[in-house]
Amino acid sequence: MDHLRKPGWLKARLPSQANYFQVADLLKKGRLHTICESGRCPNIGECWERKTATFLILGNICTRNCAFCAVDKGWPQPVDETEPEAVLEAVKAMDLRYVVITSVTRDDLPDGGASIFFKTIRLIKNVWPQARIEVLIPDFKGEAKPLFKVLEAQPDILSHNLETTAGIYPEINRPASHYYRSLDLLRQAKKQGAVTKSGLMVGLGETMTDLKQTLIDLRRSGCDLLTIGQYLQPTRQHLPVKRYYTPEEFEALYHLAMGLGFKEAASGPLVRSSYFADRLYEASRSQS
Ligand code: SF4
Repeated sequence: MDHLRKPGWLKARLPSQANYFQVADLLKKGRLHTICESGRCPNIGECWERKTATFLILGNICTRNCAFCAVDKGWPQPVDETEPEAVLEAVKAMDLRYVVITSVTRDDLPDGGASIFFKTIRLIKNVWPQARIEVLIPDFKGEAKPLFKVLEAQPDILSHNLETTAGIYPEINRPASHYYRSLDLLRQAKKQGAVTKSGLMVGLGETMTDLKQTLIDLRRSGCDLLTIGQYLQPTRQHLPVKRYYTPEEFEALYHLAMGLGFKEAASGPLVRSSYFADRLYEASRSQS
């Protein structure tokens, strides 16, 4: 398979400033993981300099095997019940006002890890109420109980990534039915009164017609906020990039999303689900 040359607009800033190294040090001391590192996010330099990081809870080994994802796969570690306190300590030390928490998918746990999400959210809310909390959750195999457990903790944003169009699901190693399962999760969260958010990657071979249909599907599920970014191949073992979208195409996708009624969207080559999450949240608030 030929590999496409990466265009110049995908150059991300390298880590260089003091804040970046402070954040790295704090996370190491707390034995915490971030999706920034595990997911090989290209924005790590910029985000950590702004002192924002997306905490990856429930370990850093995933029980699934999505073909685009850089997170390690395999048999995960036992749950660390002290993890919520460790996240809280890092939140306090970083003086965070906006916290994003995500996890690997833990199909090995009866509740998918929902109780640890619950404890982490509640602890931060009780001790550090100045922070807004966004959780980016797995699909919990489509089960309502773990979703409701997370919602009971009242995160400010409930995010779940649809990732791509229905037609591409088999290519990313997910059954097509999981596309509808994810939409249903967003629909259920909305029904419970949550502000909902989702994220998509482009460049995996999707057609523009299918992409538009996916935006419509998300809106029909009541999804409020959306991120759209370029898929980048983490290693040669992952799915290759089929196409690089231009900045102008991302701009067009932004307008398409806003025209379909999303409260706010971020669309750009380096946009990731947590990129400038605080700004997306604020923009959505100013519209409600
Ligand atoms: S479930 Fe999430 S963390 Fe696990 S492999 Fe898939 S995208 Fe990566």
